[in-house]
Amino acid sequence: MSAPSQRPTHSLPIAILLARCPRCRRGAIFGRFGQTRESCEACGYSFQAEPGYFTAAWAISFFIGFPVVLVMTMALSMLYVPDWPLPLVVLPAILMFSIFVPLVALGSRVILLYIDQSRQRDTLR
Ligand SMILES: [Zn+2]
Repeated sequence: MSAPSQRPTHSLPIAILLARCPRCRRGAIFGRFGQTRESCEACGYSFQAEPGYFTAAWAISFFIGFPVVLVMTMALSMLYVPDWPLPLVVLPAILMFSIFVPLVALGSRVILLYIDQSRQRDTLR
C-alpha cells in the first residue's frame, strides 16, 4: 500500500461486515442478488481462485450454523416448550435458522476470502 489512494477505506471488521475486498477493502465482493464477483472492481483481486473454491465456505457456514441452532434449541426448550422432547424442539430451531441461511452462506464466503487472503494469497503492492 504505497499510494494514498490505495489505502483501505474501511477497518478490517467493517470491511468484513460490508463484504469488501480482502486485499484493498474497497471493492464489493458481491454483485446483484448476492452473486460473487469474478474479481475486485477496485484492485483486480480474484475472488474465485479456482473452480469449487467456495466449497470450503460450506464448512464455515456449518461451524456458524451449528452453534446457533444449538443455542436456539436450548433456548426454545428452556423458555417456551420445556415439556417437549429435545429432538422435537430442534425442528422449529432449524426452521427459524433457515431464514438466515442465505446471510450465513454469504458471510461464510467473506470469511473464507479473508482467511485465504491472510494466509497465502498476495497483498496489495
Ligand atoms: Zn480489491
